[in-house]
Amino acid sequence: MWFKRDDMIHPFISGNKWRKLKYNLKKAEQEGKRHLVTFGGAWSNHILATACAGATFGYSTEAFIRGEVVANPVLTICKLFGMKLHFVSRELYRHKHQLFVDLPYADEAYFIDEGGSGIEATIGCHEIITELSNTYTHIFCAAGTGTTVAGIARALADNNLNSKLHVVPVLKGGNFILEEMKKLQAPVTQTILHSDYHFGGYAKTKPELIDFIKNFVARTGIMIEPTYTGKALFALHDLIDKNTFQPNDRILFIHTGGLTGLLGLLDKFD
Ligand SMILES: *Cc1c(COP(=O)(O)O)cnc(C)c1O
Repeated sequence: MWFKRDDMIHPFISGNKWRKLKYNLKKAEQEGKRHLVTFGGAWSNHILATACAGATFGYSTEAFIRGEVVANPVLTICKLFGMKLHFVSRELYRHKHQLFVDLPYADEAYFIDEGGSGIEATIGCHEIITELSNTYTHIFCAAGTGTTVAGIARALADNNLNSKLHVVPVLKGGNFILEEMKKLQAPVTQTILHSDYHFGGYAKTKPELIDFIKNFVARTGIMIEPTYTGKALFALHDLIDKNTFQPNDRILFIHTGGLTGLLGLLDKFD
């Protein structure tokens, strides 16, 4: 099997979050907007990527964080990159478009949805496939909103590649991912959903998952984390154990990055 190391794109604008931001930044530029406003949870890889991308490419950034006021290393790094943060109740957060529209300078600001999702994001995720120089019979990727896998599925179809796309939702009840992919104009005929590897839900872990991650990291030198890549790789490993694949299959695992997520879960590894 092979790894696509999108975690190595950048330490803070990592993995699929760079893919998802790229065409949003281009669109903001085309619209003459130099201020990015986005949304997310307090440990969001997307918020951090936006903060760093803004500082790097000359945009000011602002984010609405869901839930009560908290301090954590991810938010501290966001502030270091100059991002302005607002904490909003879950109730208010539900109306995020309104929060954006109510900003006095909304007309000059560029809205990026939670997790960087949306059609621009899928265009960037296309490139995960189009820049490959080999073909694979199976491709594995973690899914949160489903935007990344939607881009990958579209790229496979557009390039007549018949790889099976194995999607591992990291949330409970991950069947919604297929609907989300369809909304983003992605075909799902090559997609296989593995919705039983959520380990209790988003950012939840179990000792089995932690042990798997410890073992994998110590034996390969490739860092993974429990929220996304750990679950997807566990799924792949488990399916290999169950003899799902043929000897000459070529399996590609997309390392979607997100290693700063480890900062919130370090106590699990003590
Ligand atoms: C955000 C994230 C995902 C999920 O991406 P979606 O496009 O929301 O499905 C997967 N892996 C990592 C490391 C992430 O940070």
